[in-house]
Amino acid sequence: MGYLDLDTVLCRRLCKLQQTAREFGMQVVRPAGIKLDKFTDPKDTLAPGSPLWAVFKGFRELGLHKAMIPKAFGGTLGDYPSLATPLINEQMGYADGGLSISLLVSTMPFAFAVLSPHKEVRNWAREYVEDKSASMIGCWAITEPDHGTDWVMGTSSAGCDPCTAPGLTAVKKGDEYIINGWKSAWVSNGTIATHAVLHVGLDSSRGVHGSGIALCPLHLPGISRGAPLNKIGQRPLNQGEIIFDEVKMPAKYMLLAVPGFFGANLFGHTFLGLANSSMGVTFASQAQASFDEALFFAKNNTLNGTSLVQRPDIKIRLFRMFAKVEAARLLARKVSDHFFGLLSPPLVGAATKRQITFWALGKALNAYFTAFDRYEKVRQISKNITHPDESTGMMDWGKYGVLSKITATETAVEVAGQAMQIFGEKALSPDCVIDKMFRDARSSTIEDGVNDALAIASCEGL
Ligand SMILES: Cc1cc2nc3c(=O)[nH]c(=O)nc-3n(C[C@H](O)[C@H](O)[C@H](O)COP(=O)(O)OP(=O)(O)OC[C@H]3O[C@@H](n4cnc5c(N)ncnc54)[C@H](O)[C@@H]3O)c2cc1C
Repeated sequence: MGYLDLDTVLCRRLCKLQQTAREFGMQVVRPAGIKLDKFTDPKDTLAPGSPLWAVFKGFRELGLHKAMIPKAFGGTLGDYPSLATPLINEQMGYADGGLSISLLVSTMPFAFAVLSPHKEVRNWAREYVEDKSASMIGCWAITEPDHGTDWVMGTSSAGCDPCTAPGLTAVKKGDEYIINGWKSAWVSNGTIATHAVLHVGLDSSRGVHGSGIALCPLHLPGISRGAPLNKIGQRPLNQGEIIFDEVKMPAKYMLLAVPGFFGANLFGHTFLGLANSSMGVTFASQAQASFDEALFFAKNNTLNGTSLVQRPDIKIRLFRMFAKVEAARLLARKVSDHFFGLLSPPLVGAATKRQITFWALGKALNAYFTAFDRYEKVRQISKNITHPDESTGMMDWGKYGVLSKITATETAVEVAGQAMQIFGEKALSPDCVIDKMFRDARSSTIEDGVNDALAIASCEGL
């Protein structure tokens, strides 16, 4: 059973990019992930000479890290067709789910930096593109010890409840924000990141809706890190808490400073939808990897002199796995392509040569949210509504991202479980790669929002 690439639009450039990512994935990322998974102390993952650094550096030397940075900043977004980033994520996910996420979140602060009105911040995007030694690593710091699902539910009307307010707060004093609080031990790249997309509480009376988004360099005095997290799945993915104690962050690093439901909803549509759609391609592809392992095993092992793959029960099992993988893979690719298509023309297309378009957009977003928030307050006071915010849950883009993430991650768990069944007792040996794939897949149904919570938040307003 082989895969046809049903995507007929793959041009020669995309095929070449896909091939480059595949070779790097199978020659460097897969073996690195298998080695890192076996390290008993997660600190060893970060030691000089650890395979983790070969993955980061190799990815950058090939220029694969540029895919989400617009062409105007030296990246390839808007230069390649929108399918380029999903194709890279697919290949990384096929090689190793956890390392794929590490590479993905590493780009986030630098991809958002292009929207800053401040030249210094915008320049981070260009510096990141040129950074071959992985001295700039990003993370997405949102989850807190007491607020995980609250962020997901915050995209709905539940997010205006003050008890959902982030514990990490940013208070403006002059031209600085004073930041206090913790981001949880589950922040991917948490102990190695140099920059964070940092979600902060600006107005706790408005719950999650009272939050803003900073692009925070993590070398500022008062920032410390926890130990690298030990866990059963996606072990090669570095995770750890980030602690802020009276951190004075220059105000220019605050990207979105306007609390209000529209900002929370924007988070639902774009950030979470985009992140979830990338999780979709990553884990649909991880499901494909489990299927391929099972097929290879069935073809190369016999039972009472008959090849396993000739047994009708194994044939049926394999075909059902194949059907699920293909369905998840096609959905995930379509949704992710759609998201990156939204970022391409007219936004990137019109701005490929002019960085100014991006900061104008960043400024316009803040101005728009401020105006919208004022309008909402007036409207709600006049209607005498007790809760200051109302929202209708994620709109359609976000829902499709969630759909793709849930389908892909649940397929990855199921297919890896079925593959274990085909391997039989050999699946339980620590040297069998399928056990790792199962553990990695299982973690993905919690990562980026627990699947059930994502579904509930998406259904609001139906
Ligand atoms: C591999 C991995 C990578 C991750 N990477 C990152 C990262 O890069 N950055 C980051 O910030 N975080 C990251 N996380 C954290 C992740 O986003 C959270 O674990 C997730 O959002 C769930 O939060 P929680 O673990 O606090 O669960 P809780 O919020 O404590 O939820 C526990 C259970 O209660 C249910 N529940 C809670 N509240 C509700 C509700 N209101 N309605 C219905 N059900 C509810 C949930 O569905 C869940 O089943 C990562 C997690 C994993 C596993």
